[in-house]
Amino acid sequence: MLAKKINRLLVANRGEIAIRIFRAATELGIRTVAVYSEQDNVSIHRFKADESYLVGAGKGPIEAYLDIDSIIEIAKRNDIDAIHPGYGFLAENAEFAKRCQEEGIIFIGPSPDLIDKFGDKVEARAMAVEAGIPVIPGTPEPIESLQEALLFAKEYGYPIIIKGVSGGGGRGMRIVRGQEELQDALDRARSEARSSFGNAKVYLERYLEQPKHIEVQILGDQHGQIVHLFERDCSVQRRHQKVVEVAPSLSLDDKLREEICQAALTLMSKAGYANAGTVEFLLTPDKKFYFIEVNPRIQVEHTITELITGIDIVQAQIRVAEGHRLSDPEIGIASQADIHMSGYAIQCRVTTEDAENNFLPDAGRLSAWRSGGGFGVRLDGGNGYPGAIITPFYDSLLVKISTYGNSFDQAARKMLRTLREFRIRGVKTNLPFLENVVTHPDFLSGEYDTSFIDTKPELFV
Ligand code: ADP
Repeated sequence: MLAKKINRLLVANRGEIAIRIFRAATELGIRTVAVYSEQDNVSIHRFKADESYLVGAGKGPIEAYLDIDSIIEIAKRNDIDAIHPGYGFLAENAEFAKRCQEEGIIFIGPSPDLIDKFGDKVEARAMAVEAGIPVIPGTPEPIESLQEALLFAKEYGYPIIIKGVSGGGGRGMRIVRGQEELQDALDRARSEARSSFGNAKVYLERYLEQPKHIEVQILGDQHGQIVHLFERDCSVQRRHQKVVEVAPSLSLDDKLREEICQAALTLMSKAGYANAGTVEFLLTPDKKFYFIEVNPRIQVEHTITELITGIDIVQAQIRVAEGHRLSDPEIGIASQADIHMSGYAIQCRVTTEDAENNFLPDAGRLSAWRSGGGFGVRLDGGNGYPGAIITPFYDSLLVKISTYGNSFDQAARKMLRTLREFRIRGVKTNLPFLENVVTHPDFLSGEYDTSFIDTKPELFV
């Protein structure tokens, strides 16, 4: 039984993810609708949709895509059945999801209640504890005073990491290595959390040295069936932000893979999670894993999971949102046993960041744009073409390159070949830096953790 067939889909986002979603929808016979800010007047995502409408007139470049009233108004005026929020912007805004529901528009994502719960990292930790999943020692509540922090340090020792309760994108975290730093770090973390997320609440966790970041892709329907699509290794990070992702991880044997995927499934099935979501863990050098957070949305790096499983996650999101069961022929996952992974995939995020200049984002007109491509190479982009103007208003992602090979080595060779094939002139990019990453012996052997970039000055030459 279908809740509602989606005929007209609006994507409340821009750039590569908007285009990714339009492509998925078009293949399903769904008419696609873009919204664009005044600053995105000539952005490609607007032309990749069947229809496009100006959103947030008179507002700033970011504010336009956060303008709930304007988006809902466009949706109602244009007979929209469903809204996909992509990632960032309104993707984790429970109020927006609720508003869609109230207006009779399908929000393609989990329920507002779960967005709310997982959006609060302290609450998410509590849910993980409840589900019997290992969490990093941390404060069970946000902390108010230096006294509480001192007490935690006394019990668990240093280093400690201070994290915003509503944090995201690796921002606003502070590592504290001794008591003398604590007060200052707390003050800074709070004010950063307030200005970045509008919520000054912070909590503490034990800081793990040199962990790997392993995350499990989950897909659930609205009828209680839930599966995992194996893991991604996102340990290649700069300032706690992912740069290169790999699926599957070279650091898990079958037993550990099964354990970590089962832990993710347990948490999400207890929560009654529907749609696509990701459970993130840290894995210590002695191979113990700990929950850190849930991302209740599609992620930037979902492409590599699609490559190793053959499952179109965005199409599955749309079908699940229509009310389909995972086991329906439209999705075709009768049980976990139907999901197989084969080969290896790597994703590189090509950005306009200048690695030689502290990764400062560059902007300007692209005087040359020649893409790499070929067998086993997937490109998710849209902003790049000769003459395109890259504005400084949005995130600096130009194109995501995902490569697939039967072995990790083959996927890495394809990545190197593709990175070298690209010619982008007019703005600085991180292409040379990415080349250094994917040819580094530690990357190729899988011997890397979240400190990889910060401890390898040779990547920056
Ligand atoms: P965000 O939501 O901002 O992305 P996360 O909680 O997902 O924050 O953490 C992002 C990254 O920060 C992790 O992948 C890891 O590199 C680092 N990190 C977070 N918590 C810890 C911790 N307790 N110990 C060590 N590193 C951590």
